[in-house]
Amino acid sequence: MPAFFVTGTDTDAGKSTITAGLLRAFARAGVPARAIKPVQTGCTETADGLEAPDVALWRSAGGQGEALFMYRVPCSPHLAAGMEGAELDASVVAEECRSRMNQPGVTLFEGAGGLYVPLNERESMLDLMRSLRIPGLLVVANRLGCINHALLSLDALEMAGLSVAGMVLCRTVPSAHTDAGTTAEAEALILGDNAVRLAEEGKRRGIPLLADIPYMENASPAHDAFWDALADMLEPAARALAAFSPARGIDADLLAFDREHLWHPYTSAMRPLPVREVTGASGARLFLADGTSLVDGMSSWWCTVHGYGNGRLVRALQKQAARLSHVMFGGLTHEPAVELGRRLLKVLPASLEHIFFADSGSVAVEAAMKMAVQFRRSAGQEKKTRFVALRGAYHGDTLGAMSLCDPVTGMHTLFSGVLAGQLFVERPTCRFDEPYRPESFAPAERLLREHAQEVTAVVVEPVVQGAGGMWFYHPEYLRDLRRLCDELDILLIADEIATGFGRTGRLFACEWAGIAPDIMCVGKALTGGMMTLSAVAASRRVAEVISGADAAHGGGVFMHGPTFMANPLACAVACASLDELLASPWQACVEHIQEKLEAGLAPCRNVPGVADVRVLGAIGVVETKEPVNVEAWQDFFVSRGVWIRPFGRAVYVMPPFVASDGELDALTRAVCEAVLSASRNGGTPVLEQRRESC
Ligand code: PMP
Repeated sequence: MPAFFVTGTDTDAGKSTITAGLLRAFARAGVPARAIKPVQTGCTETADGLEAPDVALWRSAGGQGEALFMYRVPCSPHLAAGMEGAELDASVVAEECRSRMNQPGVTLFEGAGGLYVPLNERESMLDLMRSLRIPGLLVVANRLGCINHALLSLDALEMAGLSVAGMVLCRTVPSAHTDAGTTAEAEALILGDNAVRLAEEGKRRGIPLLADIPYMENASPAHDAFWDALADMLEPAARALAAFSPARGIDADLLAFDREHLWHPYTSAMRPLPVREVTGASGARLFLADGTSLVDGMSSWWCTVHGYGNGRLVRALQKQAARLSHVMFGGLTHEPAVELGRRLLKVLPASLEHIFFADSGSVAVEAAMKMAVQFRRSAGQEKKTRFVALRGAYHGDTLGAMSLCDPVTGMHTLFSGVLAGQLFVERPTCRFDEPYRPESFAPAERLLREHAQEVTAVVVEPVVQGAGGMWFYHPEYLRDLRRLCDELDILLIADEIATGFGRTGRLFACEWAGIAPDIMCVGKALTGGMMTLSAVAASRRVAEVISGADAAHGGGVFMHGPTFMANPLACAVACASLDELLASPWQACVEHIQEKLEAGLAPCRNVPGVADVRVLGAIGVVETKEPVNVEAWQDFFVSRGVWIRPFGRAVYVMPPFVASDGELDALTRAVCEAVLSASRNGGTPVLEQRRESC
């Protein structure tokens, strides 16, 4: 049933009175309804504990409700909580609210003050609304200046990606002289015009003006007559809200077009696997068209470290879009690119000084490979053109990047004759969580020594091999590799596209080994997952050699230049994302997620059919003995309210760093249930089974 967030253009706009009036109107229409005050300040001590003034007001109108986070001092939530030594957090408040949403009838959540009233140092009421993602109901204080306030509030709601079910105009002050200098006639004109203008503007935006409540003379909220009169006026609004459907529902045409014409990753155009429509996302949750919300265990393939709809990132994108959304990077530059370059140089290994912006991870890998080839050509080392990669690796889907992927899972046979023939070393066998065995480096050493004359670079995903099997190997292996590359004059390219920006518990996975590569690729979480952007950072030596070449060896220029290189929107969002990450206690968050994943996935170890359970940073993997049926496992996960997409023998989660404990528990519980159900049903979890525990 629908839930709404009642917000106002201002403090004292009349929200509580309108909420109370609506509760009475719902009751008269036979619609079960309740109100909830997520944060109430100005509570009073009574013999039965704290009393919330708004709840008392709703009760006097015959309505029901409760306040969740209650404080004594009547001021803004951040101050009131602070004075009692507490700190509010939008996602925690949202979690409490969400747990009260599954009741029959209408639920009205009433905010405190207007949209930008602070909840804490970082977040406002609008962030709470963003987390809840329910439609707003805007109570507009009808007074001089209210059109401006109402439209600014609607803009803010729209920019936050929130829908608005309607507006209610409310006059809370009695007489003309409160609006400076106006006569009674002028005031009547102003208030009447406010209603006309807001109704017109609302029509343009598809947001109805649901009621226009005048100041109610000689009435007292203590009297039934007052509430009846108010409920009469709010009855049409209550009916409209009761019929309001926040979820659009499944759009069969949309899905049919998708099935007929859109090619999804690794699928058949003729017999595609089913897809689900996402209509929005907030924090660690995805919202589907049918109204379901799923906890995202994938961070949209390693990207959304801050979760979805992060205010700082959204604002950065909106601001930059209004300033300069794109311009060619050939011969021109701009502040977002320079600012991002500055920020990256501060966090990347100090020896990496030159940055090339590209538009996706695969293209970054292509550019890095071209740098390594041009480096040799420029130095006159014509024979050194081959690359060494690790089995179990994944570096992207373009031809060059694909040539570096594991020859089996990277489907080299399908593209044989087209892919460059690279050299492969067996997957590092030394686990991250076991003492290093130097002999595990021997295969790499053998191959590199044997082929040193023809190898330009070794390309590795440091410490964590991602899409090639979710394998974590020992950092000491990287140290050995760095030493040998130096000895044999081989470049080391680190593909940190998946591992970068904190995912493994270090800002970059190379930091586990304390090494610096000659070239590093970053992407994915570079923009917090909001835009596509990647960067290739090269050492001064690499850049100098390429730049010093004569005309016969490349002319001293790096030969790459994508159209959307250094796109200002993406760069601005990436700057905001780095600022957000570095301003947050990300290391503590990732450590906490690691502990939760270790504890939550541990029961899987004892389940038959499970080959291994491993956790590093905010990545948790359950490796099964047999490959999983992706569709069946995914259906099972969706039935448990989580989004987890396994592949091969890896059932894995890597949640956004902002996921709450409850959301992390939901993910690990679902994995445990799936694994247990699969072990009892021939390797595939069975949907009908209710919650299992293992
Ligand atoms: N390298 C690694 C390590 C990756 O995980 C990926 C993507 N999964 C890529 C490269 C390719 O990036 P993109 O999909 O953005 O092209």
